[in-house]
Amino acid sequence: MLSLKDVVTHYGSSQALFGMELELGAGEVATLLGRNGMGKTTTINSILGIVTPTSGSIQFEGTELVGQPSFKNANLGIGLVPEGRQIFPNLSMWENLVATSSNHLGMADPWTVDKVFEVFPELATRRSSMGNLLSGGEQQMLAIGRALMTNPKLLILDEATEGLAPLIRQKIWAALEQIKQSGLSILVVDKNLKDLLRIADKNFVVERGRVAWSGTSDQLRADPEVMERYLGV
Ligand code: ATP
Repeated sequence: MLSLKDVVTHYGSSQALFGMELELGAGEVATLLGRNGMGKTTTINSILGIVTPTSGSIQFEGTELVGQPSFKNANLGIGLVPEGRQIFPNLSMWENLVATSSNHLGMADPWTVDKVFEVFPELATRRSSMGNLLSGGEQQMLAIGRALMTNPKLLILDEATEGLAPLIRQKIWAALEQIKQSGLSILVVDKNLKDLLRIADKNFVVERGRVAWSGTSDQLRADPEVMERYLGV
């Protein structure tokens, strides 16, 4: 479904990706792991067209994404849950969910507000609360719900559990497992390795702008050297 080949990305004269490679199949969950500043967010931004790679290829279901504006990439069915949530503060929770909802691809059985509430029952009682009055956990659930309401085929989450209490994190991971069951492909960047590895089919460890290691969660757990060297675990 998603294939990155030899992707090189710069910010001005500073190079952030040095030949990034990644393959994600339909219905799979993959992680991008690695220490701070290694290029995980840049990889996501390159996929979405938020930054334009200098060279290389990013194919999504056979369409080349490099050089396309980000709205076109989103319309192909790529949904982003951005770092920092970016909830609209002056819209209600319900308005946040419907403001950008769409079904461009005519997906059967599309996401609705009620389906989002089934995944995140906590949100159902807060539908008229303004975005800026929601707790961090509620905002994160809303950010995921808002992305689902665009009916993506691929959901990308950047640091979705950052700064959240352990109990809330558990709820987010449980929801992602539920979302995975619906057949969506998921690419996730997060630091909570233990929870992530449980739901991931494959993992890509990013080191200085390229993949230093990839494999299944079992393979990663069984490789303490990789865990220690690249992840500091
Ligand atoms: P983190 O978890 O800290 O966000 P990351 O693995 O996502 O780390 P990136 O944010 O992709 O890493 O950063 C990769 C490199 O690109 C780093 O050296 C960073 O300083 C640099 N970089 C990131 N964003 C910019 C930017 N807007 N302008 C210039 N350099 C940037």
